Amino acid sequence: MKMDGNGLITVSGLSKFYQGRGSFLGEGKKILRAVDGVSFSIREGETLGLVGESGCGKSTLGRIILRLIPASGGSVRYQGEELLDMPKKALRGMRRRMQIVFQDPYASLNPRMTVEEIVTAPLAVFKIGIKTERREAAARVLEEVGLSSRHLGRFPHEFSGGQRQRIGIARSLVLNPEFVVFDEPLSALDVSVRAQVLNLIRSLQNRRKLTSLFISHDLSVVKHISDRIAVMYLGKLLELADKHELYNHPLHPYTRGLIGAIPIPDTGRRRKRTELPGDVPSAYHIPQGCRFHTRCSMIREVCTVSEPELRQISAGHWAACHQILEQPRYPGST
Ligand code: ADP
Ligand code: MG
Repeated sequence: MKMDGNGLITVSGLSKFYQGRGSFLGEGKKILRAVDGVSFSIREGETLGLVGESGCGKSTLGRIILRLIPASGGSVRYQGEELLDMPKKALRGMRRRMQIVFQDPYASLNPRMTVEEIVTAPLAVFKIGIKTERREAAARVLEEVGLSSRHLGRFPHEFSGGQRQRIGIARSLVLNPEFVVFDEPLSALDVSVRAQVLNLIRSLQNRRKLTSLFISHDLSVVKHISDRIAVMYLGKLLELADKHELYNHPLHPYTRGLIGAIPIPDTGRRRKRTELPGDVPSAYHIPQGCRFHTRCSMIREVCTVSEPELRQISAGHWAACHQILEQPRYPGST
């Protein structure tokens, strides 16, 4: 499938399978399909939001794109160059250009390292500058994330969660990357500081013209930061569209369910749609046919036997649903 082939990053048919860990129940022989044939591209300067319930493969997808873990199949092209079979030396050069911000700033910052050591570590890895230059670079990037050079000699435990995440962001920016994966950067933070960190990320994206993949389980978070949004379910994309289009005209019943689960601001009431029924099935036992059919209110016979492809329904709006494929504007979709 060809989708926006001229993106900075083009992912096609990307998969990651895990072999079961082995137990007397026979799970050892089973395959867990964490990412199961995903295709999309990210344009230069764009933020693509990636949303889906916990366990649907978002972090795995972000990590295989950056080659932090190996893929099982598919392709990731960065400015046309294949990353997945790139030799180590060439990959090292690419690594400077691609960074990740992790979810948990408690687990991802070494408690025994000072802020200076943490933020300058990527410069040291790439042997960039001498110590004083690295310190200056760290001081500059700390200012940029709302901290200061006064913090260079301190340790992570001296900071709040929000400040720690700022340190994690500073570390990811110190090499001036072009592409950043933000993997649920707000989820471990106190609700009271989330908006500040989100605003920081947004202003950094604008100022530095970053291209990014912004991962969240929360559609109301990606709404604020993304240009386009991809909706993932059990290892596959079910919908992909411009964010306004996705909100105003969600096509897939899963996306509609996710939107229905967002509280309406101020009133605390929920939209008239109800929350999604049931739980996400196990990635060891992905349902036959449409993988969403076990939770879908619009299920038909075809949904249990054949898997719908992600197709372009209207300009730039992709969805994988039999119902939509047959009836592009099904009742209530506007
Ligand atoms: P998300 O980030 O959307 O919550 P993940 O990418 O972390 O989802 O996980 C996707 C699926 O892959 C889950 O079923 C998870 O249990 C499984 N998984 C992730 N990492 C591993 C691993 N190292 N070994 C086996 N299974 C894994
Ligand atoms: Mg995750």
